[in-house]
Formats: sequence, structure tokens, C-alpha cells
Amino acid sequence: MSFFDDAIVALLPMIPKVVTKRVAGRYVAGASLADAVSTVKLVTSQGTCATVDILGENAERREESEEAVSLYMRVLAAIRNENLDTNISVKPTHLGLRVDKEFCLGNIDGLVAKAKEIGNFVRIDMEDHTTTTDTLDIYRRLRESRGSVGVAIQSYLRRSEGDVRAVATQDANFRLCKGIYVEPLEIAYHKMSEINENFMTLLEIMFEAGSYVGIATHDDELIAASERLIEKSGLGSKDYEFQMLLGVKERTRREIVSRGHKMRVYVPFGEDWFPYSLRRLKENPKMARNTIRELLKWDRFP
Ligand SMILES: Cc1cc2nc3c(=O)[nH]c(=O)nc-3n(C[C@H](O)[C@H](O)[C@H](O)COP(=O)(O)OP(=O)(O)OC[C@H]3O[C@@H](n4cnc5c(N)ncnc54)[C@H](O)[C@@H]3O)c2cc1C
Repeated sequence: MSFFDDAIVALLPMIPKVVTKRVAGRYVAGASLADAVSTVKLVTSQGTCATVDILGENAERREESEEAVSLYMRVLAAIRNENLDTNISVKPTHLGLRVDKEFCLGNIDGLVAKAKEIGNFVRIDMEDHTTTTDTLDIYRRLRESRGSVGVAIQSYLRRSEGDVRAVATQDANFRLCKGIYVEPLEIAYHKMSEINENFMTLLEIMFEAGSYVGIATHDDELIAASERLIEKSGLGSKDYEFQMLLGVKERTRREIVSRGHKMRVYVPFGEDWFPYSLRRLKENPKMARNTIRELLKWDRFP
């Protein structure tokens, strides 16, 4: 990123939410469950499946997490009633990890039980490094007690190789991504070349263990390297899938589908769209510039 892009990213939190919402709208299905359902129908009509995420994180009160659980239950009911080709993704801190770990485990357990009952699946997102150990522990315990659950792994974390070696088996189900939180150098790779190299190392370990992997990236180089590894490992289309975020690189998404791979689109919705949209804008200085331009209505913005 250039100095100019850095400056824009630093300015983003100060921009009125109404402007950010207009520009970041492409990353979010909308505020309501109905918005999520219609977006899932749209993306699945384009040959992909989906995962629905209710926006929210860092709940400080039990009631906030309980509200999230009951909304997720409504999502699962909609999936069953409308026969939608989607599963759900959950964030541990949304479901009470900062309040109490066992409370969070109970909340996710209830969702996994319901998902299993209707033949569905719960993906546990990975948040910042303060949650990694607990998230993996929750994943391990739910996998043993119920199944129908998977976890995300971040290739920027130095610990991830050890974590993956400890949990990768034939029953394991991973989403492999680079990672989106700002983490200190002692625990995380910062150079893109190292993050990418670790991504491919982790993918190879997962495939060798016979685990199912959701390869979650928009990076052309990683997509190509993953396709080569899939071919070399002799995997079939039921052994893995690609995953991308709503609103990002739709042409690449279509191309991956046209090459015969399964593709899942991450569909976030909810009132709590602001932190998620900021993270997405920070990844994409061009969109961030649009946000500022919108604010200033200044056509000659560089
Ligand atoms: C399905 C899915 C689930 C995820 N779950 C998690 C999770 O649980 N925990 C976690 O920490 N992270 C998660 N992430 C985020 C991930 O870690 C990365 O931050 C993000 O995907 C960008 O990394 P990249 O692999 O696409 O590579 P990058 O090198 O960041 O991006 C590659 C190219 O994609 C394009 N691009 C990337 N992001 C955007 C954007 N927002 N807008 C427009 N273009 C963009 C750009 O052209 C860029 O050059 C998830 C990502 C996906 C796709």
C-alpha cells in the first residue's frame, strides 16, 4: 500500500457511516434475514453454494449472544424451509467467547445440533489471536461430540502449522484463509510471500491428512497453486471447495466455477455491518478511495 492508501485507511473510521454503507454495500447482503435469503438465492443461481454469517462480534452481554443464537436458528429454519444450498458461519466472540467459554461452547453446540438435525453444517470463523486456542478447543470438542462442524485456519499465524498437524484427520473440515486481523510480528507473518508459502504448506498438510478444505482466497497465485496441488494429489471435486467473499472478484469466481470446482460464497448480513465493512475496505484501497470521493464529491481525487 502507498502512503496515500495508508492515509485513506486511517481516515476510514472517521467517515460518516451512511457514506461507508453506500460504498461497502456490495460486501453485505443487507440488514435482514430476508435480504440474506434473496442474496443466497442469487448466488446459488450462479452455480455456487453459500455460507450465511450474521454480522456481529465481541458480545459483552449474554443476551447479545442469545439473540444471535435465536437469529441463527431462524436462518437454519429458512435454509430448511426454502431448501437453500447454504450452511452457516459463526464467530465465537459473537456467541459469547468474551463472556464465558463454556457459555459460547453451549451456544455453538445448540446450533451444530440443529444444523445436524436438518443435514446442515456450522463453520466456526477464526478471529484475532486472543481467541485461537479457545476456538480450536471448541471445534475439537464439537467435532468429537457431534460432527457437522468445521473451523477456519489463518496462514498468517506462525502457530497454524502446529495447530493443523494436531487436528488434521480424515474427519476434519477446514476453511483455509490468510487471516484479516492486525497481529504482532512475533506471532504472525507479515510478508505476503511468507503468508502465501505457509498457505500452501498448510493446504498440503490438510490434503495429506484427508481433511476436507474450503480454500478461501481471491489471490490468483494461490488459486492457481491450489489447483495444481489438487491435481497432483488426485483429489475429486467432493474433497475440497473454493470460497470467496460476497462482492469480491466476481469474474474470478465465475472462472473457478467454469473450471468445474465447487465454490461457496460468504454472505454476511445484519445490522452490525460497520466493523465488517471497514475490514473489507481496508483490504481494498480502491474502494476506500471511492468512499472518500463519495464523501467529498470531488471528481479529480487521485
Ligand atoms: C470465504 C472467506 C472466509 C473468510 N474467513 C475468515 C476468517 O474466518 N478469519 C479471518 O481472519 N479471515 C477470514 N477471511 C479473510 C481472509 O483471511 C483474507 O483477509 C481475505 O480473503 C483477503 O485475502 P486473499 O486471500 O483474498 O488475498 P489478498 O492478497 O488480500 O487479495 C487478493 C486479491 O483479491 C482482491 N481482494 C481481496 N480482498 C478484497 C476486497 N475486500 N475487495 C475487493 N477486492 C479484494 C484484490 O484484488 C487482491 O489483490 C475469509 C475470506 C474468505 C474468502
